[in-house]
Amino acid sequence: MNTKDMKPATLAAQAGGVIDPQSGGVVVPIQPSTTFVRGQDYAPLNSANTYARDHNDTARIAEEVLAQLEGAADALLFPSGMAAIAALFRTVPNGGAVIVQSGIYWGTTKWIRDFCARREITCHEVDASDADALDALSNDVTAHIVWIETPSNPWLKTVDIARAASAAKKAGALLAVDNTAATPVLSQPLALGADIVMHSATKAINGHSDVLAGVLCTKAQDKVWEMIAEDRATAGAVIGPFEAWLLLRGMRTLPLRVKEMCRNAEKVAAYLADHPRVTEVLYPGLASHQGHAVAARQMAGGFGFLMSFCVKGSREDALAVAGRLKLFHRATSLGGVESLVEHRHTIEPHTGIPETLLRISVGIEDAGDLIDDLAQALGQS
Ligand SMILES: *Cc1c(COP(=O)(O)O)cnc(C)c1O
Repeated sequence: MNTKDMKPATLAAQAGGVIDPQSGGVVVPIQPSTTFVRGQDYAPLNSANTYARDHNDTARIAEEVLAQLEGAADALLFPSGMAAIAALFRTVPNGGAVIVQSGIYWGTTKWIRDFCARREITCHEVDASDADALDALSNDVTAHIVWIETPSNPWLKTVDIARAASAAKKAGALLAVDNTAATPVLSQPLALGADIVMHSATKAINGHSDVLAGVLCTKAQDKVWEMIAEDRATAGAVIGPFEAWLLLRGMRTLPLRVKEMCRNAEKVAAYLADHPRVTEVLYPGLASHQGHAVAARQMAGGFGFLMSFCVKGSREDALAVAGRLKLFHRATSLGGVESLVEHRHTIEPHTGIPETLLRISVGIEDAGDLIDDLAQALGQS
């Protein structure tokens, strides 16, 4: 069967159908070599490999699986999500311009602002979940990149990817989508008109909170993509072979994990939405959510595992709820098999995050156990 015809569950479970040709193993080996031998004629024994900064078979196989999952022409792995973002933005010339969604992952916003200031790049920030606002800006300015994140972290705003793609075209920009919170299982931005998809593979793609990795996937192997690949090879922001191998292992269960996390998250969101001590639940799966209609259209099979909710009362009340949770670990990050809770205001107090907001990443534990934990932490009143 051609991998093009395979559904994500099949692609992932079989790691793209690759077996180890040497041993016949159904799992590919880790290739740790940093250098590769040349023959007597001085030609490399294997024409694909001379030096590990750009040549590693294990990373290549992981990239193939990721490209297949995203329906991409090519994928490149990086040692973290931020390294992937930096590689893309380094293609913008000094004095250029970018359009960036406001209220997204704080690490992205902070790095892009600093980078743009250093390189005299104009950074237009806009609430891209308001498609009209993004449209209006794109009529007025030209840019190299439009950067969106949907659902966004930690506000869970939904951006209409197809509309953002046409806005980007008007601004003469390519559309790049941070697809971390949706995963390729729920959302395929390239099919909706995006040019580049980025993931913090540290999150659900690996799924076990034990690998730091990032990836860029491209619709076309064009000039910008060549620049990114060249920059990675020469500047050296590459993933190690063991991390690439762990990613391959984690991805085998990606569709299974995401499906269960979405099922759990829907139950948790419904429980929280009904709770008298919860004033607001931000989750695209709720019919009351700002972006529910768009999310229902562009996400398939679920609305993700990430949500935020506001506790009635003060900052101290929210922190006390987080403190009483027994199953949800109080830790940053998201997308792992274990559920996590975070008080984002402690991390980014200056971004307008409510002091009473708790962000949770729902794992694959029993949904009833998770709800019981939230119930005891919130109190029944
Ligand atoms: C974690 C995260 C990143 C950054 O990725 P790292 O792997 O931590 O460098 C970027 N975007 C989103 C949405 C994230 O959650």
